[in-house]
Amino acid sequence: MPLATRRCGSASPPTRGRPGPATAHGSAALAAACVLALAGLVGACAIAAGLPPGTAGSPTAATVSASPGASVAASSGRPSDSALPRPIRPPAAIRCTAVEGGTAQSFGLCVPVLEYHRIATESEARGSLPGLVVSPAEFEAQMVALRAAGWRTITLGELANDLAAKRSPPARTLVITIDDGWFDGYLHAFPILEGQGFVATFFAISSRIGSTSFLSAAEMRDLVAAGNEIGNHTDDHRNLLDLDSAAIRKDVETASERLAAATGVRPRSFSYPRGGVSARVVAAVAECRGIEVAVSERRTIGETWAGRFDVPRLDVGPGVSPGTLLAWLGG
Ligand SMILES: [Zn+2]
Repeated sequence: MPLATRRCGSASPPTRGRPGPATAHGSAALAAACVLALAGLVGACAIAAGLPPGTAGSPTAATVSASPGASVAASSGRPSDSALPRPIRPPAAIRCTAVEGGTAQSFGLCVPVLEYHRIATESEARGSLPGLVVSPAEFEAQMVALRAAGWRTITLGELANDLAAKRSPPARTLVITIDDGWFDGYLHAFPILEGQGFVATFFAISSRIGSTSFLSAAEMRDLVAAGNEIGNHTDDHRNLLDLDSAAIRKDVETASERLAAATGVRPRSFSYPRGGVSARVVAAVAECRGIEVAVSERRTIGETWAGRFDVPRLDVGPGVSPGTLLAWLGG
């Protein structure tokens, strides 16, 4: 199966260059109707990540309210049960699975880690799986709402520092991650993040540095200079479940070397491509030189020192309103 990211390479790259300040994308653009799209899209996201449909989805009202089976019963002319209005339930907060604080070995944090892929317009993302694409307007609305609610950001590397130091960051601290190293992360996400005083961890695929539609070395250095982090997303985005442990280490360390050569900074953070995680894969990545923390796609919140190579994330797809996102985070 071709890689989802390669399918997306057909879009012509926008003009390169340092993006200006964020423009007004219309922060109130998210209508409740968008939520209906989420029900179908989170499944696509799971497929793209190599997970069974539904495993990456959120158990929100949206996923139960969009019923493809809504129809009129042929025999009675009355709506079928699935067509009857259902009560709208507000999105539930995602509960932290870790105990904040604790002893050296059991130390835990409850820092939400958000997962994005593409921040792009429809035309720029032509060919990408829709569930992986958040529009710049949606992204800006989410960032504005997070900032207004008092949230601040740290990079995943800084989260690793806190775990190592057994130190809790201030309340309402979160991590924003953007996978796959697309150029639109620089063109769109970067100025929007800067506009809110936020930073992110961008996970790059080292064999694609400078390829059409992907971040160049100069762009990654710009991101780093502004306080962002470039993390390791392997050399060629292969599912690590398909590699033996030695091959995993070789792939990850090759990617680290190439990314360090491009940015001047050796990656400390890692993201498993396609959601390919197992105890064996985690153990192999944990042995890779310089890697201190790794994120997977288990959809929850909570980090522990012992589990720092399998940190969960909340995937944020299209149609997630700022209100829903804040609700996930507890307000
Ligand atoms: Zn990826």
